[in-house]
Amino acid sequence: MKITGCETHAVTVNFEGVMSGTHVVLRLKTDQGIEGIAYVSRVGPRNIRAMALVMEAMVESLAGLDPTNTEEIYRKIFGSSLGAPVSGLELRAASAIDVACWDLKGKAVGQPVWKLMGGFRDRLPISANWALMPGPPKDKLQAHLENLVSRGFKAVKCPLGFATMDAAIDHVKFVRAVVGPDVKIIVDLNFQHTVKSALHFARETEEVDLYWIEDPVAFHDYDGMAEVRANTKQTITCGEVFQFQHEFKWLLEKRGCDNVMIDQDLGLTGFLKVAHMAQAYGCPVVNHLAPEALSHPIAAVPNGLIVGLVPWGQPLFTEQMQVEDGNLVMSHAPGLGLTLDEDMLKKCAI
Ligand SMILES: [Mg+2]
Repeated sequence: MKITGCETHAVTVNFEGVMSGTHVVLRLKTDQGIEGIAYVSRVGPRNIRAMALVMEAMVESLAGLDPTNTEEIYRKIFGSSLGAPVSGLELRAASAIDVACWDLKGKAVGQPVWKLMGGFRDRLPISANWALMPGPPKDKLQAHLENLVSRGFKAVKCPLGFATMDAAIDHVKFVRAVVGPDVKIIVDLNFQHTVKSALHFARETEEVDLYWIEDPVAFHDYDGMAEVRANTKQTITCGEVFQFQHEFKWLLEKRGCDNVMIDQDLGLTGFLKVAHMAQAYGCPVVNHLAPEALSHPIAAVPNGLIVGLVPWGQPLFTEQMQVEDGNLVMSHAPGLGLTLDEDMLKKCAI
């Protein structure tokens, strides 16, 4: 199989009227008529065109190469001509191409990516990560939580970094009262605390039994993360903004967290490398965004903990992620098991 080119689509889609996202979708074309799919999010509106152009130029440089040789492609696109790693839009484009190559590899051999990567399990816990911040009236929040539980979710995530301390503590107590003792509650502090205020929050919410506290302090403060982790009984999760393997190495060596959160920016190839590195430190791994792609390496490895469902990419695809009794049911379809919704791509093009 050889790479022949690509198509990109810039779209803004909305999930159930509560969460919208702007994405650049990549379709990586081959001489065998099959295509690999990926999307990147978190690109500012002014940079959407640039993102697509960088992707297209990078794919052009890969013409004629076999996309199923994922390590060969990974080395070419994540390394610059000077041997240093790429960064910025180039790195984000490289991550999408890597995801699309894995999709093609699965399609080429008729196997799902999670199975090719190790196939540890085909059902794994999933959390609902949308519309759970403080602010809306409590009855609205209660109705949303009850709806999530009725849809089979047994874990929810609340972003609380921008709430006051009192509002954040009150929020998790309210969520616990609504969902009862059997639903996991995850709290994201979004890098907004000092070590002292993070530890205060951790102490005040011990009785709520949180599943984890995420990003308590600044993302570059490895010592601060380690200090928080060492001084609370609660579980700490960090890593979502890291784009390079060495940052995870520093995080793990510092014992900065209990769970490692990995973004799609590392590509699926890089995700897998970090997941194996974390296993050596006894740390479970979870995804940051892009659940359609990142659920695959989490399902593949024994230290994959739970998939976080941020659903803003779901409208791009004709099939939705299947949740049953708190678990994500992985598709057995080849590749990532995704089919682009052609009408949606046209209707929501920007
Ligand atoms: Mg987060």
